[in-house]
Amino acid sequence: MTNDALIRPHGGALVNRIVSPDARDAALRAAAALPAVHLTPVQHSDVLCLATGVFTPLAGFAGRDDYESILTRMRLASGVVWSIPVTLPVSCEVARSIGGARPIALRDPSGRIVATMDVTAQFSYDKEREAQAVYRTTDAAHPGVARLYAQGDVLLAGPVTLVDRRGDEPFSAFRRDPADTRRLFAERGWRRVVGFQTRNPVHRAHEYIQKAALEICDGLLLNPLVGETKSDDISAATRMASYQVLIQNYYPADRVVLSVFPAAMRYAGPREAIFHAIARKNYGCSHFIVGRDHAGVGDYYGTYDAQRIFDEFAPEDLGIVPLFFEHTFFCRRCGGMASTKTCPHDGSSRVTLSGTQVRDMLTKGQVPPPEFTRAEVAQVLIDGMRA
Ligand SMILES: [Zn+2]
Repeated sequence: MTNDALIRPHGGALVNRIVSPDARDAALRAAAALPAVHLTPVQHSDVLCLATGVFTPLAGFAGRDDYESILTRMRLASGVVWSIPVTLPVSCEVARSIGGARPIALRDPSGRIVATMDVTAQFSYDKEREAQAVYRTTDAAHPGVARLYAQGDVLLAGPVTLVDRRGDEPFSAFRRDPADTRRLFAERGWRRVVGFQTRNPVHRAHEYIQKAALEICDGLLLNPLVGETKSDDISAATRMASYQVLIQNYYPADRVVLSVFPAAMRYAGPREAIFHAIARKNYGCSHFIVGRDHAGVGDYYGTYDAQRIFDEFAPEDLGIVPLFFEHTFFCRRCGGMASTKTCPHDGSSRVTLSGTQVRDMLTKGQVPPPEFTRAEVAQVLIDGMRA
């Protein structure tokens, strides 16, 4: 089956802003002479996502027209749906030092030149206004808002070109660009592919949701975020090992792809749910699972806000189909996994544990009930927390 059977990338052709291998050395030499901006880890991940098409149709950091349009109506100036401004903030000093330079170099947090940027504009912006529009709060205690308040006062706009890709990133075997996942899905003959975003271990509840979605799709893209998150009590390496042992034992190998998601978390709740769905569309997913309080943090968003926001867009404007799920659990009387939508029994029949309870058990080396976590997964998590 060809790639054409898959959902089209968002807003047009898949963006590819990676310099060709034969032009790489010359591009790096030229970049070394340019004024440079040092990227934070989040900005570095944005550059990777922009250049490899994860953020298609974006080819660079937002200019003023797109920025304004994203804030006020969750669309690019062209009208294409886009919910989170992807910006390159720098300090006034850095902005001045660049001056009117068009091509600049972008250095990763270690100082290495990774990309160039054609700076088409510099503009100032109102951080509180962006906070309210994107995060629905101006509270500096919100991790996304805190990051926004701490960043530079000038935004640089323009397309980026990736000139040097790190070859030493963790989990390199599980790093696939949208072009790669699309090729893989096509090889497997998949047309309907469901994406699942996670930054946690997969317990029975999530397995059930993934498999329920897989019943109506051809394949599953298990797409964990392994970059920096705010509470890493389980390391990314342990989580990756737990996904692998789960897949080996309980998923048909030809129906699932485990691949890491390189974007940084924003904790923007509803707007980030849209952003996550669009990124998965670019990977070739036709469906995307949206749970309760997707990409939320604290009490900033209502339980169903991240699901309801999809109603603000016509299905053809999004393309990817959101699949909404409730919390699920094992019910002893039902004798299987269920949710409040499908099980009539009360809490005494249901095997539920809070996040804190699970963490406490694993820390003490206790295996949670098999109805809550697969034994193989629990063992990986316990070993990982002891290491
Ligand atoms: Zn029940």
